[in-house]
Amino acid sequence: MSTTALENYPAIIAGERVNASRTFEDIDPSTGRPCATVARCGQEEVDRAVAAARETFEDTWRRTTPAERARILHRISDLLRREHEEISRLESTDTGKPLKQARTDATVAARYFEFYANTVESFYGDTIPALSGTFVYTLREPYGVTAHIIPWNYPIQIGCRSVAPALATGNCCVLKPAEEAPLSTIRLAELALEAGLPPGALNVVPGYGEEAGAALAAHPGINHLAFTGSVEVGQIVSKAAAENVVPVTLELGGKSPNIVFADADVASAVPVIVNSIIQNAGQTCSAGSRLLVERGVHDEVVEAVAERFRRIEIGAGLDDPDLGPIISKDQLERVGGYVNRGRDEARLVTGGEVPRDERLRGGFFFEPTLFDGVSPEATIFREEIFGPVLVASSFEDLDEAAALANGTDYGLIAAVWTRDVGKAHRLAHELRVGQVYVNTYGAGGGVELPFGGFKRSGHGREKGYEALYEYSQVKTVALKYS
Ligand code: NAD
Repeated sequence: MSTTALENYPAIIAGERVNASRTFEDIDPSTGRPCATVARCGQEEVDRAVAAARETFEDTWRRTTPAERARILHRISDLLRREHEEISRLESTDTGKPLKQARTDATVAARYFEFYANTVESFYGDTIPALSGTFVYTLREPYGVTAHIIPWNYPIQIGCRSVAPALATGNCCVLKPAEEAPLSTIRLAELALEAGLPPGALNVVPGYGEEAGAALAAHPGINHLAFTGSVEVGQIVSKAAAENVVPVTLELGGKSPNIVFADADVASAVPVIVNSIIQNAGQTCSAGSRLLVERGVHDEVVEAVAERFRRIEIGAGLDDPDLGPIISKDQLERVGGYVNRGRDEARLVTGGEVPRDERLRGGFFFEPTLFDGVSPEATIFREEIFGPVLVASSFEDLDEAAALANGTDYGLIAAVWTRDVGKAHRLAHELRVGQVYVNTYGAGGGVELPFGGFKRSGHGREKGYEALYEYSQVKTVALKYS
């Protein structure tokens, strides 16, 4: 592919397609070759985007009623559905994820706008009958300009998850997509304009994290920051926001366990467990990256998972295989580094290599990899690998299962597999995680389910009705009438 043929993707600022003074190449991870050039925003573009968001917020958006906003959000949802196939293919090319997974993401993206269009109309404040002769009520008001910094693994889903509730509650947004996969969110901003969203209500500033991302996180003109990404960068942006006394929601990493008891329906559990780590090549914050199995069925479960791993078809995202590539060469090397470490720490059951298939040359592929006998002290047990790598350990009883499950710095989600309802509830209460699934695995669940971390997986909640609280602040009004 020659770089001259590449389409150029601009920033979207104040309703305009804006070409920054510099561009960067966006790499297709299935081939290792560039698939587009993209505006490389810096301080100047971020300043313009924040100013545009502020102006639209003050002049129009904050004065609209929930019903007016809901109508526009519904139209955005409709347009995302109209362009479903285009967005899916763009996302599959940009992230390398299998096309069917990208199609699901595009469906969910449309659903976010629909859900928040529906719910914001019944999002009210309270009346508080506390003081005699005084009428007290609360209002839920927007923050103003909200900044959204998102990762590359689910750009269209996470972009919509973040901006839909923010727009619904009356904020104006500046979105910074990840440099590895910015295309679908630029397209989202164009569709939002077509849907009638006022120019400036949703600005997109693609670029590098240390440039556009850092400029946005530290910008004195933002009133709220929603960050999704790694713990390290979450810490950096939190400090920047603290300087401006700006609230931050952090959706960070995970090391989520599937916990399988001996009384579980193993045949139903195994395909779900496999999918929870293979989906998006394990590059999902809520990937089921640990497998904790009660001793009596341990070998049976591990062998059943291994058997499925060996049959997984690897390929380019648009060819719609079971497993696509890792996002970048750097990330591939990182995964390989963890796997090499794992060889010293545990028993490699299957995988562990870059596939040698000629068809996959140039792309950033890695075999589905399973380690067994992994101790709770091992690096591969504790750290987020962000690749198709599953680590298995065994336990004797519920207490040990809880201790193992809680034995990392993360606390995003967990799944419990058992036929014993009492055991399921007991464990659900013990687990220090933001979501617990029983006899299923949700990777975040539907748009309606509140989602977010305990411990170093972050704080604040996205999704569901909770996000409406997250993107609004309470004002209390007290009126003395006697
Ligand atoms: P990352 O932290 O490297 O990047 C996330 C975003 O931050 C990108 O847009 C990046 O450009 C930007 N960024 C980088 N440096 C910055 C800086 N100095 N200042 C401001 N912005 C900066 O994360 P990633 O590698 O893109 O994504 C992987 C991580 O994201 C994993 O840890 C994963 O678990 C996490 N994640 C969490 C969720 C969730 O909802 N909890 C969802 C997806 C991914």
